[in-house]
Amino acid sequence: MMIKTRFAPSPTGYLHIGGARTALFSWLYARRHGGKFVLRIEDTDLERSTAESVNVILEGMTWLGLEYDEGPFFQTHRFDRYEEVIQQMLAQGLAYRCNCSKERLEALREEQMANKQKPRYDGRCRGQHVSPDEPHVIRFRNPVGGAVVVNDLVRGKVVFSNDELDDLIIKRSDGSPTYNFVVVVDDMDMGITHVIRGDDHLNNTPRQINILRALGVEPPTYAHLPMILGEDGQKLSKRHGAASVTDYREEGYLPQALLNYLARLGWSHGDQEIFTLDELIQLFDITEINNSASALNMSKLQWLNQHYMKTMDPVQVAHHLRYQLGKLGIDPSQGPDPVVVVQAYAERTKTLAEMAAQAAWLYRDFEDYDADAAKKHLRPVALEPLLKVREALAQLPEWEPQALHAAVEQVATAMELKMGKLAQPLRVAVVGAAASPGIDVTLHLLGREATLRRIDRAVDFIRTRAEDN
Ligand code: GLU
Repeated sequence: MMIKTRFAPSPTGYLHIGGARTALFSWLYARRHGGKFVLRIEDTDLERSTAESVNVILEGMTWLGLEYDEGPFFQTHRFDRYEEVIQQMLAQGLAYRCNCSKERLEALREEQMANKQKPRYDGRCRGQHVSPDEPHVIRFRNPVGGAVVVNDLVRGKVVFSNDELDDLIIKRSDGSPTYNFVVVVDDMDMGITHVIRGDDHLNNTPRQINILRALGVEPPTYAHLPMILGEDGQKLSKRHGAASVTDYREEGYLPQALLNYLARLGWSHGDQEIFTLDELIQLFDITEINNSASALNMSKLQWLNQHYMKTMDPVQVAHHLRYQLGKLGIDPSQGPDPVVVVQAYAERTKTLAEMAAQAAWLYRDFEDYDADAAKKHLRPVALEPLLKVREALAQLPEWEPQALHAAVEQVATAMELKMGKLAQPLRVAVVGAAASPGIDVTLHLLGREATLRRIDRAVDFIRTRAEDN
């Protein structure tokens, strides 16, 4: 059997972190079994669906690298097909027209509530002839008695009694098909074998199975994923910060890190934490998913992100760093190759946004010195050492880390200074702050011209301050 999974987001907002995990698990399952992965946009809610949201979802999928084999299919393009199935169901007696008034349904509901019964349609129109010319909805004739057993790959066996389910409206009085019905037609037409989705859809499943069976189709296998909670164990909401895939990208996470992190949210393989995509494809087993909710853990995501910044091909990481530099208004051609910056900074930062901010001094003159750093290191005692080191650096025949290190060391020795007494003022002079990679790497990355210019600036700064006091 050819395995086919799908990701079926409703384009009513961003690509949520939970949605991304659902997409990843569906994608992994298809890849692992040599099957196909379908993207379906569930945009029948015309009021809440937006084209912008569709774009955000497609961009998120591309950024994560979850390529789909079929689609994107849009439900709004399939209304003729849904109508065709509705007509077929009417003809076969699987569905019927219902003209119960709002008032009747409301009274029924109140009566049931008063009797402490679950409100449900009583099937009054099942045996009635309702003319297609009068206002009506169309309902599915749900089986009476018996139960629907869902053998969920995550939740295990879940049993729903048919008496709990009523005759679902499949077509509204305005002619539009309803959500649970279109999902069924799509899963059937697209040949979906495994439905992997959030467990907020578990209660829809028996209804969908009943319709599929009525249509003579064997239902797919279902796997309902538990929720993702915030770090505080509460239901995820806006106040938890980044919730959309786009947010993680903006904050400087690598897609590889986010995928690895998402895979481990609710799934594990021994105590292994780091997985390449190939390993995930080989090892991922949907039946091993934990059936309780899992909470976000930002420090773990940061740890993974740094791991990938350090170990991935720096050319690939640099591609993402360029994006972050661009956001700061920095043109990477005005400084060192971002590949080298990745190598110098991966040990020192946890996200690419942080890396870009910390490396900005390499591409443009900083505005002000960090106040504490200047107070501590750009003092009159530093004047002489800075002038001496400037002289030595200006004369260097080549601007290479080793030669740079030797030059700084020689000046320190000649002046009987500890290395730090020279390197720190020099660092603050060129970086504007007291932290950067090793002084040799720092000067090398910055280049001769900017280094000398910034030492001159620091010298002026110290002199002006001395005069002011
Ligand atoms: N469109 C639904 C959602 O975004 C998913 C439905 C499904 O996977 O069956 O929650």
